[in-house]
Amino acid sequence: MPKAFAITAALAVVLYQFVPDDPWWVAGWQMAIGYAAVGAVLVGARRLPRGERLPFRLFAAGLGANVTGIGVAVFCDEVLHLVDLPTPADPLFLLLYPFCAAGIAVLIRRRETGRDWTAMVDATTITTGFGLLAWVYVIAPSAGGGQITMLGEATQAAYPIGDLVMIAMMARLLRGGGRRGAAFWWVTASLATFLLGDVAWVVIGHLIDLGFAIEDLAWFNRAVESIFLVAFALFGVGALHHDARTLGAPAGPAVARLGRVHLALLTLASLVAPAVLAVQLAQGAVTDGFAIVIASVALFSLVVARMAQLLRQVEQQAQQVRELARRDELTGLPNRRAWNDELPRALEHARRDGRPVSVAVLDLDRFKLFNDTYGHPAGDRLLHSSAAAWSACLRAADTLARYGGEEFVVLLPDATEAQAREVVERALAGTPLGQTFSAGVARWDGNETSDELIERADTALYEAKAAGRNQIREAANRPAAAAAMK
Ligand code: GH3
Ligand code: MG
Ligand code: MG
Repeated sequence: MPKAFAITAALAVVLYQFVPDDPWWVAGWQMAIGYAAVGAVLVGARRLPRGERLPFRLFAAGLGANVTGIGVAVFCDEVLHLVDLPTPADPLFLLLYPFCAAGIAVLIRRRETGRDWTAMVDATTITTGFGLLAWVYVIAPSAGGGQITMLGEATQAAYPIGDLVMIAMMARLLRGGGRRGAAFWWVTASLATFLLGDVAWVVIGHLIDLGFAIEDLAWFNRAVESIFLVAFALFGVGALHHDARTLGAPAGPAVARLGRVHLALLTLASLVAPAVLAVQLAQGAVTDGFAIVIASVALFSLVVARMAQLLRQVEQQAQQVRELARRDELTGLPNRRAWNDELPRALEHARRDGRPVSVAVLDLDRFKLFNDTYGHPAGDRLLHSSAAAWSACLRAADTLARYGGEEFVVLLPDATEAQAREVVERALAGTPLGQTFSAGVARWDGNETSDELIERADTALYEAKAAGRNQIREAANRPAAAAAMK
């Protein structure tokens, strides 16, 4: 179906080049293609679930008004002989912009789950760059000439403004998240082609002003008008495409990509203001100084906003990396790195408060055998469930960390050896799957380093192992000589 439509439309556009040079024929042919596209969009909408039809209906309304404008324009020209802007056709032509913008807005809302400020800033940057170009080269030159009425001038300005709105919405759509299937690209191509057509008119207008007799070249006019016919057809193909339903499909939060193309586009947009200034300086007269200043201020602010977003993103990621680096993946406990930071701090607190502090070193008994018997994954699960079970047995102030392999450490603030032992005994009884561990506990003597403290607990652990496992040993005091050497 989309294929048949595409082929027929392509043929119609080719044949359009040979349509008799009669305004009614020309307009009639254009309207046939335009209304066919509107029909295609409506058919495409009907195929979607009820709740998803709105964007396509809005697009159909915009396209329909625009096509109708073609007929009205010919009628005004041929029958009513209205030549002054605005003609009744202009509002119809212009309706394309708000309807398409609204359709895209609905699509963006559907496609994205959260607010995407990054996409917003990028779209605004690009629109501001284009906006300055449009102002300097399209809107400002056509204003204040005195040949046409205020309303005529406003109408003339409305076209480039409509284009700008479309550029803004398309930049936002392209910069945001969501699936990008075939229909997405057909519709995007269609909207881009409409813009291309409008730009072509502007360029032709300038060429005519410069004295090129383009309006006499009939085939050239046909070719330029064909741009709009192609835009109509592309929209129809996109709406008929079976993948049209993914156009409004919600996607996860957008990743803030900043690829080369995006970066190049943003750079170009940011450089529009100085470039326009340079051109005007070279021409010997800065005629749009204020517009350039306003655009520069806007663009600088946007670049700074973008920089702030990127910085915040980097900070958040750094924070995540820091957290990941301090957490053991298997058990979710603090890892050795976190422990090594934490222990000296805890000793410092104990020194300041004059309170006792103890540590325990735990090592699962015959864990190699468990692994060999039940498999490594079962061993992993035991480590995980043991960590959870022991954590539940500890006091709120205690910290359990994974020291390595099947070895764990516990920091017990405000606990003597005896109190520490009591807590660790509860943990031993809570070990899952009938497994056991051996442990050594040591109370900080007030002078030793954290390494020395752990070493004493470790020695006690090995005594517990040697004594038959499944038990807790309290560490011996440091030899008096070693303590005195401090
Ligand atoms: P002991 O009672 O003397 O402590 O005997 P053991 O078997 O527990 O001690 P050993 O040091 O001989 O073996 C420790 C085993 O722990 C060997 C190693 O494969 C296993 N292990 C270390 N880390 C992991 C892990 O992350 N997952 C699993 N499944 N096994 C681990
Ligand atoms: Mg072991
Ligand atoms: Mg071990």
